[in-house]
Amino acid sequence: MADEVETFAFQAEIAQLMSLIINTFYSNKEIFLRELISNSSDALDKIRYESLTDASKLDANKDLYIKIVPDVENKTLTIIDSGIGMTKADMINNLGTIAKSGTKAFMEALQAGADISMIGQFGVGFYSAYLVADRVTVTSKHNDDEQYTWESSAGGSFTIRLDSGENIGRGTKITLYMKEDMTEYLEEKKVKEVVKKHSQFIGYPIKLLVHKEREKEVSDDEAEVEEPKEGEEPKIEDVGEDADAEKTTEKKKKKIKEKYSEDEELNKTKPIWTRSPDDIANEEYGEFYKSLTNDWEDHLAVKHFSVEGQLEFRALLFIPKRAPFDLFENKKQKNNIKLYVRRVFIMDNCEEIIPEYLNFIKGVVDSEDLPLNISREMLQQNKILKVIRKNLVKRVMELIEEVCEDKDNYKKFYEQFSKNIKLGIHEDSTNRKKLASYLRYYTSASGDEYCSFGDYVSRMKENQKDIYYITGESKEVVAASAFVERLKKRGFEVVYMTEPIDEYVVQQLKEYDGKNLVSVTREGLELPEDEEEKKKREDDKAKFEPLCKVMKDILDKKVEKVVVPNRLVSSPCCIVTSQYGWTANMERIMKAQALRDTSTMGYMAAKKHLEVNPDHSIINNLRDRAEKDKNDKAVKDLVMLLFETALLSSGFSLEYPAVHAQRIHRMVKLGLGIDEEDESVEAVADEEMPPLEGDAEDASRMEEVD
Ligand code: ADP
Ligand code: MG
Repeated sequence: MADEVETFAFQAEIAQLMSLIINTFYSNKEIFLRELISNSSDALDKIRYESLTDASKLDANKDLYIKIVPDVENKTLTIIDSGIGMTKADMINNLGTIAKSGTKAFMEALQAGADISMIGQFGVGFYSAYLVADRVTVTSKHNDDEQYTWESSAGGSFTIRLDSGENIGRGTKITLYMKEDMTEYLEEKKVKEVVKKHSQFIGYPIKLLVHKEREKEVSDDEAEVEEPKEGEEPKIEDVGEDADAEKTTEKKKKKIKEKYSEDEELNKTKPIWTRSPDDIANEEYGEFYKSLTNDWEDHLAVKHFSVEGQLEFRALLFIPKRAPFDLFENKKQKNNIKLYVRRVFIMDNCEEIIPEYLNFIKGVVDSEDLPLNISREMLQQNKILKVIRKNLVKRVMELIEEVCEDKDNYKKFYEQFSKNIKLGIHEDSTNRKKLASYLRYYTSASGDEYCSFGDYVSRMKENQKDIYYITGESKEVVAASAFVERLKKRGFEVVYMTEPIDEYVVQQLKEYDGKNLVSVTREGLELPEDEEEKKKREDDKAKFEPLCKVMKDILDKKVEKVVVPNRLVSSPCCIVTSQYGWTANMERIMKAQALRDTSTMGYMAAKKHLEVNPDHSIINNLRDRAEKDKNDKAVKDLVMLLFETALLSSGFSLEYPAVHAQRIHRMVKLGLGIDEEDESVEAVADEEMPPLEGDAEDASRMEEVD
């Protein structure tokens, strides 16, 4: 009976990826085997995990292994595992129709110069089979379904059929029909070399079918006098003992060459974490790390330790050199710390074992105390696991400390994982202090060097009590801000915080080393000042009080208050935000978040204070005019213009940019001496925009200002 064959189209990006894999010139093709073995190992992990709670899941085959069978004659390489297998639906979904974020990300990475060997990290390792094969079949049997065979020669489609051929029991059998020039991967020596290089630390036996020959003695029919003597066979070619041999053995037997094949286990190494750290070379850690993580590069740092006493476990923790492309993607299954119980693999995405902010740490934990049949649900409550977790966090802190000792290495680390450190400050109050010492920022005095709060504190001026910082969009933007200007002029250093997450950091991190963290864009910033400065400020306050009131009346609800501070240098005014609520930077970040909850915009939106510069000619001029006539329309318009300009230079965005543009255009016309009345003014005002204060009626009076 011919089995029905169904044809499916590959999801578009996968088809694209496959043709890229097939057509790209690339010499390091051997990694296909690592990827297929790694998939088998994952599948074995899964069935073992299921069997912990239901032993009958192993009924079809209790042996857990991976087997490689080269067939030189037919030019095929077959990889068999007794893992969990795939149902028909699994094959359709996992091998071609469901888009994965990694597919596109990997192609983009390739375009940007990434290497094909990175494929495993993007979750599309299976397709590396097409580096060496032009046709691939996957036969799979899952406990819950019949046996099916998937097949594709690329070209945009694959087929699936019910497979009533040779029964594989449970698991998956992948057959690669090798390209003409890829037959070297059928050689025993080559397979052994590649497995040793990439897969020696796989936790299941990898068996290779090898062909051997042995000499076999068969009795010679014509001379059946003496029995063959056991154990003499190897000595036959030993020349030195020729004489003896002649005496004792008269050749009555015939030797023939016999061909036979057997499985040879390729990865007999003991789990690396059970060995003593003293006996392990860094290269070995590197190999283990790579096989554990699918990374193509060595780790940045490693910590190998054991805990004994009331509770016993061993662990091996790694910091990678790079953050994965999807480190903070929510849906991503965490695959970071593998949990073993007494050398038996339990699960690889155990969320309870390490806090979320350390999700970049890779490694294994092997507990002596947990029960073998522990389930995910049990883990959440488990006290032993809580202790393990605490220990791991402590060790990771030590590990980061070690990385910190080498400045260049730390810089590399920090570029990749600063977000994690910052998230940690937000989440982990126990380690906040330690984590704060790992922070690095540019400052107004640090130039191109990252510096720590420790560095900052050591440079603080004698009369300085606080650590000053500014949050903003980029180093360039904050460095040019009017807020920083004043502090710099007086010799104070300002920390530049330019990542969105920094806003969350400063919410939690109120101080460092007993020094308060003070935002230079918030109201109430008090710089140390001498008597003279203090007196001047008080005088200014009194002198400008009326103007402040006029301005507040004009601006109304747009600002909380209008004040004379001690912080401006060259700008006529700026906007600061109140101690609570958002900063300009935070408002920008929140507005940019597409799915933000609009209801919070109202009460969290930055509470703005307008600060005016008593030493600025514009402010002084305004003060004089306001004194003469409180209701001067030109004053009104100019105050609005100053306010909007201050918003912009303080990092806010304008609600009605077009209105601001109109004001500016009017100023330009004034500057050019164009009489507004003569022009056929086009009505630019949008229905939804608020009317311009003093619009049309007072254009001529504005000329008086200058
Ligand atoms: P990843 O391993 O990162 O998920 P792959 O492209 O290597 O990505 O594999 C895709 C999927 O195909 C796997 O997630 C798994 O569901 C399935 N798969 C591949 N090989 C096997 C196998 N030997 N046994 C069971 N499932 C497999
Ligand atoms: Mg894989």
